Amino acid sequence: MDKRDIENLTLGELKKELKKHAIPSYRAEQVFSWIYKKGVTEFSKMLNLPKDLRETLSKHYSLGTIKLKKKLESADGTEKFLFELSDGSLIESVLIISRKRKTICLSTQVGCKFRCLFCASGLKGFVRNLTSSEIIGQILFVKHNLGHSITNFVFMGMGEPLDNYDNVRKALFIMNHAKGLGVGARRITISTSGITPAIRKLKSLNIQVNLAISLHASDGAKRDRLMPVNKVYPLRKLISACEEDIKTTHRKITLEYVLIKDENDSLKDANGLLAIAKRLKATVNLIPYSPVQGMHFQAPSNKEMSLFKNHLIKNRVNVTMRESKGKDIQAACGQLGKSKRT
Ligand code: SAH
Repeated sequence: MDKRDIENLTLGELKKELKKHAIPSYRAEQVFSWIYKKGVTEFSKMLNLPKDLRETLSKHYSLGTIKLKKKLESADGTEKFLFELSDGSLIESVLIISRKRKTICLSTQVGCKFRCLFCASGLKGFVRNLTSSEIIGQILFVKHNLGHSITNFVFMGMGEPLDNYDNVRKALFIMNHAKGLGVGARRITISTSGITPAIRKLKSLNIQVNLAISLHASDGAKRDRLMPVNKVYPLRKLISACEEDIKTTHRKITLEYVLIKDENDSLKDANGLLAIAKRLKATVNLIPYSPVQGMHFQAPSNKEMSLFKNHLIKNRVNVTMRESKGKDIQAACGQLGKSKRT
């Protein structure tokens, strides 16, 4: 019989589950805190639990399943982790280290269905959703096994987080719970290619995480081509969903915009982007295109990117330019692509 992985359970679910074995709810809280606060990976090490309880737990349950297969370090300090899942699938996570921040970039799916024209993650197609244990496992490994104190958590690795809504929601609960990882919602960012119905669902979650929209084009025809998801959830509807979101949550939305030479970097593109940014009172995060093997796209020159950025600034749009890190180890935005055993 397959043991049930406890890391797929929120605290409420764990309490219910353990009740089946007549284990009281305060014990579930202790187990939860051993896993997430102390990073213990074996029930036998949960020392404030009686021995027979530890044995019952080991008999029926398991703790996480992801295993580190390879770690790469970039010259700029960025670290990339290749994890193997129980079925042999491979996923990647990235730790981006800057002076003040340690940001973990989390994967949510093996592969991706959405096939944005410029991104490596969809190249091999979609394999499956990650479980919440596999999402949380990426954090637990970097935090507890490697001892990094992570300050920021971004769902910007492989996959589309809002296409795996239920497991991402569960992972968010575990991350945010004071007895779990205790991460403040403001330190968590969900990036989406624009799955409108899930943006609406996210709004009702009582964890107000930051929302980043991968816009990348400000007119429908161009977005249809660069991001086929636009044919299913078109720009007009995406913008309305963002407006509703802002009205209810009062959170600020970020618009991500990958600058690709001769594709979306003209003055006309900048004007379209600034109109949307103004309408949503959003911050624009410009991302220089990271080269992907086998793809012909390029980033514009630094001068061209500055012109684009300055045009937005002149028109009073709040703009940040993402510093691309980890390119030498294929860890930059859009370069994550492992999905099968190699
Ligand atoms: N599926 C989600 C999250 C993963 S991608 C989303 O689409 O938002 C994280 C960000 O990297 C997205 O904005 C994505 O469009 C961007 N990206 C993809 N390929 C890229 C590349 N080659 N260079 C720079 N950014 C890229």
